[in-house]
Amino acid sequence: MTDLHRLSIRELTEGLANAKFSSRELTEHYLKRIEKVDAQVKSYVTVTAEQALAQADAADALRRAGSANVLTGVPIAHKDIFCTQGIKTTAGSKMLDNFISPYDATVVAKGKAAGLVTLGKVNMDEFAMGSTSESSYFGATKNPWALDHVPGGSSGGSAAVVAADLAPFATGTDTGGSIRQPASFCGLTGLKPTYGRVSRFGMIAYASSLDQGGPMARSAEDCAYLMNVMAGHDAKDSTSMEKEVDDYVANLNGTSVKGLRIGIPKQYFNVEGLDADVKARVEESLKKLEEMGATLVEIDLNMTEAYVPTYYLIAPAEASSNLSRYDGVRYGYRCEEPKDLLDLYKRSRSEGFGAEVQRRILIGTYALSAGYYDAYYVKAQKVRRLIQQDFLKAFESVDVIAAPSAPTTAYRIGANLSPVEMYLGDIYTIAVNLAGLPAINAPVGFDKDNLPVGLQLIGNYWSESQLLSVVHQYQQATDWHTKRAAIAEENA
Ligand code: GLN
Repeated sequence: MTDLHRLSIRELTEGLANAKFSSRELTEHYLKRIEKVDAQVKSYVTVTAEQALAQADAADALRRAGSANVLTGVPIAHKDIFCTQGIKTTAGSKMLDNFISPYDATVVAKGKAAGLVTLGKVNMDEFAMGSTSESSYFGATKNPWALDHVPGGSSGGSAAVVAADLAPFATGTDTGGSIRQPASFCGLTGLKPTYGRVSRFGMIAYASSLDQGGPMARSAEDCAYLMNVMAGHDAKDSTSMEKEVDDYVANLNGTSVKGLRIGIPKQYFNVEGLDADVKARVEESLKKLEEMGATLVEIDLNMTEAYVPTYYLIAPAEASSNLSRYDGVRYGYRCEEPKDLLDLYKRSRSEGFGAEVQRRILIGTYALSAGYYDAYYVKAQKVRRLIQQDFLKAFESVDVIAAPSAPTTAYRIGANLSPVEMYLGDIYTIAVNLAGLPAINAPVGFDKDNLPVGLQLIGNYWSESQLLSVVHQYQQATDWHTKRAAIAEENA
């Protein structure tokens, strides 16, 4: 079979179950594609061919023995932020260039238990700080839709592998949009779950009160399969919730668009810098949902202006604390020939971290320092509460809230946005993390340069099933999620 990479996750599970192809054939097919295509896309930091083939053989043996799970033998790529035992985990940083974790992240372990085959680890912005994947120590990943554009970030590698058909689905993480924005830039479906739905154990920390792992794939259905693996309480992560997990696949038709009340925040559609094509595509998708029976309700989210400053105090503050562990002593990069201990700390950190990470450590340390703590950090926490209340009030009258995932389509590589310009691009995604809510990106068309546009739907707490279901209904009625980048078509 030459077109195994065209199959959806459901088709892959059926093909494996009916012995139309083996996991070994499927895995070899993907490895071959990676060898052929990834030199152009540069999405993988590490390809784990040998382990993948061994896992595939083990999966095939399980199938033959009749003890396979649904997903046994299906390949996956993991964002290089999830610790993988015996395989390098870099978080896109020189600091961890040689870090081999002694244990698996819970998400990775659950993947293994479900029978998934790990193809490798994929590129990301350094320590997940960024929106382009350009801040990676390993260089920029390319957007499969236009190789001179970024795939978004920080889960840019996860988006690029799926959009270029170099993995059928991938894990991502979202601290302020890092699943939704790259999904939007690469024409994919990506779900940021409710804070606490997916274990953060073994997921390298950026901002612990905001970080959340989730699935990135072509469709809501494909995401649902991966959510069934990822979601659930974990005793090793005290912030993961002891709450029953839905069967996201079984519930794909559980919510009807008919009668669904979709909130349209007035403030969101008047944001300066919202691209006209993005606005038009998002509005068209909402019109389609309206035709399918949804009601559009104009709502107010009055805290919109506070999103960027609040997030860019809280996230760097937590980052500065989380990243203090990289001191050149215990693990990670260590500078050559330090003069004394202070020199070791200073040089290891300034040589091991890139510019954006250093910028955030400086901002965060400043915001947390005595004398400024109340004025910045405590104040930001209070505003964070107001942002959350704003959403909860909106959910009294609507079921979901619609927004673009990003104000623009993918930037050009090397566009060299100033930090503030870059941060403003996060306006539609970061409030969701501040409030801990779930949200999903769905592809809804293209701009004049044929770059994908994404619609974001934000749900109330624990409404992952509903979000997946609404997008699934939309995807049954439209075909944007089936469109493929030329590179995925050509190199079949
Ligand atoms: N772009 C945002 C940032 O740089 C979000 C990143 C993320 O979600 N990890 O912080």
